[in-house]
Amino acid sequence: MDAPGPVTATSHSQAPHERARPLAKGSVYPAKDLCSQCGLCDSRWVAYVKSSCAFLEQRFEAMETAAHGRSRDLDNQDELYFGVQQRMLTARLRRPIEGAQWTGIVSRIGVRALETGLVDAVLCVGQSETDRFTPVPRLARTPEEVLSARVNKPTLSPNLEVLEQLPGSGIRRLLAIGVGCQIQALRAVQPTLPLDELFVLGLPCVDNVSRQGLQTFLESTVSSPHTVVHYEFMQDFRIHFRHSDGREETVPFFGLDTPKLKDVFAPSCLSCFDYTNAGADLVVGYMGATFGRQWLTVRNPRGQVLLDLVEPELDVAPVSSSGDRRAAVQQGIEAYDKAVKLPLWLARLIGCVVKRFGPKGLEYGRFSIDSHFTRNALWLRRHHPEKLEAHIPAFAKAIISRYRLPAA
Ligand code: FAD
Ligand code: SF4
Ligand code: SF4
Repeated sequence: MDAPGPVTATSHSQAPHERARPLAKGSVYPAKDLCSQCGLCDSRWVAYVKSSCAFLEQRFEAMETAAHGRSRDLDNQDELYFGVQQRMLTARLRRPIEGAQWTGIVSRIGVRALETGLVDAVLCVGQSETDRFTPVPRLARTPEEVLSARVNKPTLSPNLEVLEQLPGSGIRRLLAIGVGCQIQALRAVQPTLPLDELFVLGLPCVDNVSRQGLQTFLESTVSSPHTVVHYEFMQDFRIHFRHSDGREETVPFFGLDTPKLKDVFAPSCLSCFDYTNAGADLVVGYMGATFGRQWLTVRNPRGQVLLDLVEPELDVAPVSSSGDRRAAVQQGIEAYDKAVKLPLWLARLIGCVVKRFGPKGLEYGRFSIDSHFTRNALWLRRHHPEKLEAHIPAFAKAIISRYRLPAA
């Protein structure tokens, strides 16, 4: 499949994307049920989908080498888990941005990138006028537009559809903010984009959902689903929900309705191994930091250029690690496989014990990676056995092999 979008009859000297057209909304996209709706197919760069889509061809090593000059060192435990890096740290903005997901480091970098003239535009995700959780990707040209895109829209977002707006826009230098599957496709088509400079600010990402899936998740988990304005799975093993009246509600991970939620996550996300966003220049998440702080991985000198924009405004600390995740991960594999739902009192008790004695800092990050990679390997084995060998990258295979998976 060279050019899945309709191609106009013009000169052969044109590049494939100059002849292609976005796929029709609502049609079946090339990755079929595994499509994460990254947006590439909603742009003329659909012309390269076969070699760019994160679900059609897994190409971590080539992507890392092109973006960072080398692929990750599998013998280095930090790189095995968190990817190519030159620096890892934890940080908080000393003056947090109100309404941001955490302290707003991502939005602040976007604002500074525009204010300093590093880039002409920032690819970020606003929300629809009628629904707080429906993502609307945009090319922000002003700090105000970047700020209004703060906070997660925890649903699949077609970020790359905005590539369609690049030709003729005057944008030559771009900062793209996005999750792993979006960045994999973006990196693959990067040489064909009409840009002089591309900076990539990645978010770690796991367990994403369609808008409908989000509704099911909220309805089975929280007291008042319609008033939730913000939520996050946090390092204290609880999900923190914030309601529109400012009320906070927490639910222990171990109390989730696993039987009901087993199929709520999007198939793309149940087959994804790019949790830590391997292709980004700089990654800003939380899971490798202690509770309340953000966790940053600088992958290459361009990532450091992005961090330099805000570093004087940060309270920075080294990464730390404590506890031992391995028994908890193994137990989690078995509980997930049996789709166990614990009574709330027991879930709270386990939550308290794990919070006190369980993994923290980078070890929490490894707990989360191990738990998701093993679960996703099981999911792939059951739903797409034909993809198992080629789709799981070498670093994920090395991690998964440390655990006993239930028999097929
Ligand atoms: P803010 O300043 O609030 O900015 C948030 C940025 O996110 C905005 O620029 C916006 O453009 C972008 N954004 C919002 N929704 C989407 C979307 N659907 N797709 C792409 N970009 C989006 N971190 C972890 O450590 N572990 C996780 O498991 C994890 N899961 C995540 C899942 C999703 C779907 C998303 C969007 C993020 C996830 N993160 C995760 C990242 C984390 O929640 C924060 O977004 C990150 O730490 C930045 O916080 P901030 O306060 O600096 O962001
Ligand atoms: Fe196209 Fe992206 Fe879906 Fe792959 S994940 S089929 S590139 S929209
Ligand atoms: Fe994309 Fe993976 Fe996040 Fe799903 S979990 S939205 S596939 S990066």
